[in-house]
Amino acid sequence: MLAQRMSLLSDPGTAAAREAAKVAAAAGRQIIDLAAGEVIIEPPTSVRNGAVAAINAGTNRYTDSIGLAPLREAVAKKLTIETGIGWNTDDIVITAGAKQGLLDAALAVLDPGDEVIIFRPCWPTFPSQVLLAGAKPLFVDVRPPTYVPDIVAIRAAVTPRTKAIIINSPNNPTGAVYDRTTLQAIGDIAINNRLWIVSDECYSSFVFTGGRHESIVMAHPGVRSRTILVNAFSKELAITGWRLGYFAAPPEIVSAAKKLQSHTTSNANVIAQHAILHHLQFGDGRFEREMHRRLTDARTVGLHILSGLRDIDAPRAEGSFFFYLDLRTLIASLPQAGHVRTTDDVAQLLLEETDVGSVAGGAFGDPNGLRLSFGVPPGLLEQGLRKVVETLNSLKTRQVAA
Ligand code: PLP
Repeated sequence: MLAQRMSLLSDPGTAAAREAAKVAAAAGRQIIDLAAGEVIIEPPTSVRNGAVAAINAGTNRYTDSIGLAPLREAVAKKLTIETGIGWNTDDIVITAGAKQGLLDAALAVLDPGDEVIIFRPCWPTFPSQVLLAGAKPLFVDVRPPTYVPDIVAIRAAVTPRTKAIIINSPNNPTGAVYDRTTLQAIGDIAINNRLWIVSDECYSSFVFTGGRHESIVMAHPGVRSRTILVNAFSKELAITGWRLGYFAAPPEIVSAAKKLQSHTTSNANVIAQHAILHHLQFGDGRFEREMHRRLTDARTVGLHILSGLRDIDAPRAEGSFFFYLDLRTLIASLPQAGHVRTTDDVAQLLLEETDVGSVAGGAFGDPNGLRLSFGVPPGLLEQGLRKVVETLNSLKTRQVAA
């Protein structure tokens, strides 16, 4: 008999979508996997060289539970440059990916019965971690076309039990980038109600409209003492499997993480820590620029292809590397007697008939969405999106004929 908390965790819908694509590929089909939550590209040479050097030097010991001091210092320097706000080594915790930073945050600040505001559609780990900590997710729905939270709705959702707000800009799955006014208003709500802000910025390198990424601590410096700013190298350097992330937070959260990590993972993988340190010291920024250019091109080509969709508005895709389609109008127009009635059916049809993997919005708590990654190699992306457009445009007539 498993512990009751296991029933609180959502099925990993995004992982299930990828798994289905992998099973189809293993059966010999040429699958174009647009379900991936990672950019398919070789990692930077500097990271690989740093790892090899650490291995060859016989590096094999535990590190401090919150990471190597020189790495924490290098991350502080990077964050200082990116945010224009000063950070020190003592502000930084090295984690096994953003996921561990987010779990540290949940375990450090939440008590049973606390409520946490989460904007939905959301990455499914947010509510699952809140539930694991014994607290309650309180969803505030965000709507197309912007998927930016409505400030009045957030204010209305706050109760005496609210302890934190989780924000994720640039966003997975919607691709939304929150504007400065929204970030400032969320900051004011947090201050007025004494809430923590957990800001997941792990797609910060991927902003395609309106300049560079703006963290909530830049938009509203007054929230710094109540913000846990979570980030990772997973997406930025295309090293999702290496498991290296970090967060910047006030001293009490850093101390809590030191304890938590010493009792859970001991420390993030030491070879990965050295590899990233090497990259931060000797990387020339070429990889990051090339990655941004590639994704910018992929987004432009993808948006052009998706503009051929009927009954579905082109997504904005301002940040991250996802096109998030709102299928509400299309689904509503399909006959209830047909075999495609939900976005899950659409995702299944795309995989079975056109060999394209996608993630239905149900994985993010949204019955209307469909997420397509543009982090796949360019030729495959074009081929995959053309098939998606053709299939979705044919749905209505096909169903009527069936
Ligand atoms: N946060 C968001 C919003 C994500 O989409 C993901 C991965 O998909 C993560 C965090 C996990 O990052 P990491 O692999 O660094 O743990």
